[in-house]
Amino acid sequence: MRRILALSLTVGLFGLLWIAAATGADEAVPGVSITADASEVPGLASWAEAAQKRCELWHPLITRILGYEGEHKHREIKIVVKKEMKGIAATSGGTINVSASYVERHPNDDGMIVHELVHVVQAYPRPEPVWLTEGLADYIRYWHYEPGQRNFRITGRSSYRDSYGTTARFLAWVQVTKDEKIIQKLDAAMRKGEYRRELFQEATGTPLDELWAEFVAATQRKQAEAAAERSSPKEP
Ligand SMILES: [Zn+2]
Repeated sequence: MRRILALSLTVGLFGLLWIAAATGADEAVPGVSITADASEVPGLASWAEAAQKRCELWHPLITRILGYEGEHKHREIKIVVKKEMKGIAATSGGTINVSASYVERHPNDDGMIVHELVHVVQAYPRPEPVWLTEGLADYIRYWHYEPGQRNFRITGRSSYRDSYGTTARFLAWVQVTKDEKIIQKLDAAMRKGEYRRELFQEATGTPLDELWAEFVAATQRKQAEAAAERSSPKEP
């Protein structure tokens, strides 16, 4: 059953990609313009152009995945490659600042800009809880943009508050096993500034901490099975 659900999620994504491809980039983001500026580091102009195209394709897909149907708060989105910037990237309003030195060191990290673009689409009045804002961004990155590329290991010390990939893996599990609308419900609550932990219980019938414990048990079982499979002697 889990496999069928996973398959239907994949088919759903291909459906979205097909819609985006069929309608063309201009119509795919009605009323939204995305520009890229690499003037500080001209050597990264082609990287910036590719990032812009990726964002034009993914803006409507992210909107669909989050189930958002309202007006976009940020309709002029700018990707700016910064010469002097520490870290990886920082998004504020509709502006995504990207560190040139990070891009130079990680030229193939295409998913980074998708994660940042999720923050633009989220446009939450406040980011709290930050673990959920970041978890949703990585959920879209790792379960839709680059599915199966990374495995986030869950240990006894992990927490849903760990943010990023750990939270993303938890959200994906809740979606596939408990409530296929959980992502949209959480996004809608965050937009209104009305997130409460009880939302998890209302959606799934199980309180958040119990849900997490169930996820950890199921995921650790899966990790142990995968490890046993790796270490078992292969048939000649
Ligand atoms: Zn982020």
